[in-house]
Parts: sequence; C-alpha cells; structure tokens
Amino acid sequence: MKTEIRIKFNVPPYAEKAGDYIQECVAGQKICGDGVYTKKCNEWIEARTGIKKCLLTTSCTHATELAALLADIKPGDEVIMPSYTFVSTANAFVLRGAVPVFVDIRPDTMNIDEKLIEAAVTEKTRAIAPVHYAGVACEMDTIMDIAARHGLKVIEDAAQGIMSSYKGKALGTIGDFGCFSFHETKNYSMGEGGALLIRDEKYVEEAEILREKGTNRSKFYRGQIDKYTWVNFGSSYLPSDMNAAYLYAQLEIADEINQARLALWDRYYERLEPLGEQGRLELPRVPESCIHNAHMFYVKAGDIEERTRLIDWLKENGILSVFHYIPLHTAPAGKAFGRFHGEDRYTTRESERLLRLPMYYGLTVEQVDEICDAVKKFYRS
Ligand SMILES: *Cc1c(COP(=O)(O)O)cnc(C)c1O
Repeated sequence: MKTEIRIKFNVPPYAEKAGDYIQECVAGQKICGDGVYTKKCNEWIEARTGIKKCLLTTSCTHATELAALLADIKPGDEVIMPSYTFVSTANAFVLRGAVPVFVDIRPDTMNIDEKLIEAAVTEKTRAIAPVHYAGVACEMDTIMDIAARHGLKVIEDAAQGIMSSYKGKALGTIGDFGCFSFHETKNYSMGEGGALLIRDEKYVEEAEILREKGTNRSKFYRGQIDKYTWVNFGSSYLPSDMNAAYLYAQLEIADEINQARLALWDRYYERLEPLGEQGRLELPRVPESCIHNAHMFYVKAGDIEERTRLIDWLKENGILSVFHYIPLHTAPAGKAFGRFHGEDRYTTRESERLLRLPMYYGLTVEQVDEICDAVKKFYRS
C-alpha cells in the first residue's frame, strides 16, 4: 500500500517578488551573468556579513572549487575535513589532485572535532575545510589558531550557514574563504547557485579572473582598463542574472524567512524535549558561541534499525523524513582519493542514527505538531 505524502520534507523557498524581478531581466533582454541582480545579491551579502568581497557563483560546489584554486592547492597536498559532509567539500580539492584527510566529528554538533585536527596535520597539509553542519558553527577559534600556527588556509563550507554566526561573526567570513549554497534545498535559493566570500582584498582580482574564464573582463566592465584579455587559466562560474533575481527577492525578506524557520525549529525542540529527557531520542545541540539559522531539524534514534523503522512509520503517516550523509571515507571515491586519520568513533555511528524532519519556509506550526505527535506515538508503542 502506498500512502500519500501530506507533509513534504522540503519545499524550495520562494518570495513573491521573484516573478517581477525575473520579468524585469527578461524585458531588458539582459539575463547574462553579473547583471543588476547579481550585484544586488553580492552587495546584500557583503553588507549583511561584513565580508570584504562576495562573488555569486553557479553553485557552492563551484565556489569551493574557486577557493581551492585561490588557495593554490596542488597535487599531493592534504586538506583536513570531516567525512560526514557532502561530496563537494572533498571534490573541490580532489580535482586539484589533493588528498582529503578525514577527521572524526563531535557527536553533539556533527561538526569536525577541532581537538583532533592538529594530530592530522603533516608537512603536506595545506588547508582545513570545516563544514558548519545544519548551520551550526564549528569551533572556529581553535581551527583558526591551528591554521595560523601551521600556515594553513581555512576554507569554510558554509553551504548551510548563511545567517548563522560564531561569536558574532557571520559564518563564511572567518576563514580565508567561505562558500554559501543557494541550491533549492537551502534556506535561500536560486535553483542552483552559490557564493564565494573572500576575506582578504589581495585575492579579489585573481578570483574575478578565475570566475571570468581567465580574463580581466570584470576590470573592463568597471572601466579600469580599455580592453579585456586572457590573463590566466580560469572557468565560467557566473550564474544567469535571472537566477540572481529569484534569489534577491528572498534576500529582501531574509529576516522574515529566518524568523519563520527558527520558530519551527523551536517548536520541534519544545515538543520533542520530553522524549529527549527520557533518553528515547537525542535532540540537536547548539553551542552558546553560535547563533544558528534553523537550516534543519534532526533527531537521533537509538541505532540504524530504529531509525529505519521511524522513517517508515512517519511515511505511513504521510510524513517524509530522510537520513543524511553516508560518510565519505566509506564511499568508493572516498576510499580511492582520501584517508581517515585516527579512529572513526562517531562519524559512522552518529550518521546512522540521524534523521532529518521536514523543515522549510511555509511549513506550519500545526504541521510540526502533527509530526511531533507521530514521533511520540512511535516511541509510545
Ligand atoms: C548543499 C551543500 C553543498 C553543495 O552545494 P551546491 O550549491 O549544490 O553545489 C556543499 N556542501 C554542503 C555541506 C552542502 O550542504
């Protein structure tokens, strides 16, 4: 028997003005990259996060690839990262011939365990790529300190981290480079898209050239040179201005979207807290140093078998919940390209317990209550 899904896991975010803004691009017959709306998005992100320079990209994957190029990652270099992440964190460096060195996560936040990073540093290590899982910050003070002492670059995978902060600093602005995602599964979306955040002025020109097929066209558009030419290798990482227009409509109401998500997150927490206190279920933890963005609400079941039964139970009740990353070091490509440093105490175990509940802009408190009731019923029986 196939039950109808009444509560979806994700509905891509949408803001009403998107149609008008896209229409404006269409009417002006100006839909290529770096148009009016791309600039508006870049400026919004710069103003909001305080970053020196933001460049909208075709994806977070591409933003991370740009960061790997700017960090001058070379074949044989090592980059330290968690294994519990999306493939793009690793791919960006693998494409440069580097070796991802996976380090275990902390079970409380599912983020890289900052205390294990230094032991994984070798003379080949060039960078650390922390991933802010669920929009909850990694312990950045420790990570930045290790990087400074060993001369390493820090590339923040802040795909899930826009509107979150660590000790008052926006995620994506703390390391040398930060990468946002505007994929439709994220808090703000342009279908496919992302952004590269550049902390130091000295990388801006090179980044613009890499992003514009190795040409200095950005300078030309600003009137700083009278013709543009091919000056370096590069690729094309500019999204169409129509996609930026779609995103900008959401950025204009970013606080409203953020507040709505946080209210849902708090409701989940409040309703499921008794189960947490009884030790039936584990709830997410947000360290005091972090303000999060309610990117996701996850719970942890006892083990993989219990999680599977809970997913099935919710599905029978018309609710779609999903598990998340299969640790990269257990995947064929992860085994071929990378290695795990130290013991896998939590990465595999915790990833097998984790279950993501529906979370999107537009989900209602009543729906959250219904989901929580279904979870409670599961644990009562
Ligand atoms: C979504 C995501 C990405 C990839 O983002 P795209 O914009 O789809 O390329 C990378 N890393 C993490 C942690 C993500 O959640």
